[in-house]
Amino acid sequence: MEKQKTAIITGITGQDGGYLAKFLLEKGYKVIGLVRRGATDTFVKLKEHGIFDKIEFVDFDLLEFTNICRIIKKYRPDEFYNLAAQSFVGVSFEEPIYTTEADGMGVVYILEAIREFSPHTRYYQASTSEMFGKVQEMPQTEKTPFYPRSPYGVAKLMAHWMTTNYRESFGLYTCSGILFNHESPMRGKEFVTRKITSHFAELYVGKTDKPVELGNLNSKRDWGFAGDYVKMMWLMLQQDHGDTYVIATNETHSIREFVEEVAKVCGWDIEWKGEGVDEIGVDKKTGKVLVKINPKFYRPAEVDILIGNPEKAKKVLGWKRDVDYNALCKMMMERDIERAQNGNL
Ligand code: NDP
Ligand code: GDP
Repeated sequence: MEKQKTAIITGITGQDGGYLAKFLLEKGYKVIGLVRRGATDTFVKLKEHGIFDKIEFVDFDLLEFTNICRIIKKYRPDEFYNLAAQSFVGVSFEEPIYTTEADGMGVVYILEAIREFSPHTRYYQASTSEMFGKVQEMPQTEKTPFYPRSPYGVAKLMAHWMTTNYRESFGLYTCSGILFNHESPMRGKEFVTRKITSHFAELYVGKTDKPVELGNLNSKRDWGFAGDYVKMMWLMLQQDHGDTYVIATNETHSIREFVEEVAKVCGWDIEWKGEGVDEIGVDKKTGKVLVKINPKFYRPAEVDILIGNPEKAKKVLGWKRDVDYNALCKMMMERDIERAQNGNL
């Protein structure tokens, strides 16, 4: 019988962490979840996935090098998935120093600990399409020049190059997954997709009367399903050598289109009226205002469009998605309605 593999996941309490942990447990891995201490229950998603009691949890913070060294030394895992990050672009403009330390330096701490204490460990870095920012080419590939537009994008770019550099300098097996936006019913409510579906669910069940307040409706994103994307993280670590891969759908939709699509699931037909900050989204049938603009949600610098070409991942990893854009919209909207109806949104 093959020896059971051990995987460490940072950011296990986040959206991707839950899906990845579930996937690895199903594959027979021993999963060690690194978590930072919080005053409230951060395990909600893992409980909803039904895997909370199958994971060994260890205290961890991206900023504490001694703690990272002790963990790597103790477990010397086969695989290390670094999903932890201050992952919200909007906040990174307000907390640029913390974001740089956690998302940039935090990665150097982990790589150093692996280099020193467990060089056989295969490392996955959660890189992001935000590194392309003001896009230099359409669609974006592994070869597209980077032009990040937020402290988040800049910090992640540093981490991406460190990941590449430790592979080239020290022969470590490291991978950088340049994942485009991926969503799910487990997405944090501060991100635009889930902000919309959770608010619409409250409107749908009559828990609120207020429209959802949004910023820029015209930016476009290449949205996939998180459950599909975590499988690619694992596949990246099962090759002959580490590498960089774009994971995307090669399809892009505006925030406005996302609003319209999930509204349909609620039985609403959105009509847009007015312009700029005065624009509103109204249900044609009832005249009810469902969306309004709040400039508070505009960003100091915007990423207007993202669309990724995943050809390399298709060829090398056999990348394909099970959930397309329309199915994703439906899944997210229906789950939030169900949660709202059960009082656990
Ligand atoms: P989430 O925001 O849902 O999860 C982030 C996780 O990081 C949480 O578990 C959080 O813990 C943890 N974390 C944050 N700061 C620290 C810290 N200082 N020390 C330890 N843990 C910390 O992110 P996602 O699951 O959506 O994304 C996973 C990764 O992939 C992130 O690195 C993100 O930047 C990246 N990414 C995501 C994309 C997406 O579309 N989802 C696209 C491309 C990249 P806590 O629960 O305590 O807050
Ligand atoms: P990001 O691509 O990682 O920044 O993911 P987000 O879901 O946070 O944002 C996606 C896009 O939606 C960005 O272009 C935002 O400017 C836009 N957007 C418009 N209104 C909002 C809002 O109210 N909240 C968020 N988070 N984004 C918004």
